[in-house]
Amino acid sequence: MPSPEIVKLPASAAHAVGKVWLVGAGPGDPDLLTVKALRVIQQADLILFDNLVSEEIRALFPAATRALYVGKIKDAHSIPQELLNELLVEKARQGLKVCRIKGGDPFVFGRGGEEMLRLKQAGIEVELVPGITAAAGCTSYAGIPLTHRGISQGCTLVTAHGEKSLDVNWQSLAGLQHTLVFYMGLSRAGMISSELIAAGMNNNTPAALIERGCCPEQRVIRGSLQELEELVARHEVQSPALIVVGDVTRLADQLDWFQGDTGYPAASTEIQKLTA
Ligand code: SAH
Repeated sequence: MPSPEIVKLPASAAHAVGKVWLVGAGPGDPDLLTVKALRVIQQADLILFDNLVSEEIRALFPAATRALYVGKIKDAHSIPQELLNELLVEKARQGLKVCRIKGGDPFVFGRGGEEMLRLKQAGIEVELVPGITAAAGCTSYAGIPLTHRGISQGCTLVTAHGEKSLDVNWQSLAGLQHTLVFYMGLSRAGMISSELIAAGMNNNTPAALIERGCCPEQRVIRGSLQELEELVARHEVQSPALIVVGDVTRLADQLDWFQGDTGYPAASTEIQKLTA
């Protein structure tokens, strides 16, 4: 891994009132953190992290930096979003450099937009550090190209979890004839297949489930659209998992490469040495 040169974050005058960095941690492998994300982690006064920030990435938090878990467990928000927004505002007003780090990319089903809106409204300086979103990272580690010449000309990212009800135009999705990636779809796998099939998609469209993508325990389970729910049950697939629907999933037969060994914890140790 190339040595990330740790350049100091711009110092203080502007931060007398503190500042918040909304940081994407990527899908799990610490080697997929951006250099900028690592720099913010190393120099923050306070780190607020959620459950999709992997153990290996948490191991990179400096021991002397206060780190608070503010994550959510399905159906049980540990801190309501509104309170979290206020916590960010409060800590920045105390003059702290706050690293708000979350899985994947903050702007992809990550509520980063909501947090940023509140911070801007409060006049707090905020910077966004993008991360590799699960759809990009997990499919790469599963040997599934999101697009492939002659197979899929595009890709759509969809959440299967709505705040109140699910507002998805299944007819349009089925008509796209390109790769569909569902986030937060595990408990709705049956509904996803029946809606897509009812909207005209072939029962036998190839599909894949990627559990704990980009982590040593990654599992890729493949089958057809109509089998999705059964596959989840049979293989006891656990969250976090992505559902990928489309012909590109077949390419995993030839493009599979990830052995589950990313080299960490050695990689984390190496980063710690470089940034000590
Ligand atoms: N902001 C995140 C997504 C948060 S929503 C991002 O950009 O990736 C949470 C959902 O993301 C999970 O329910 C799962 O569908 C997906 N996800 C995140 N990390 C994952 C991983 N390592 N493996 C499989 N799915 C993952």
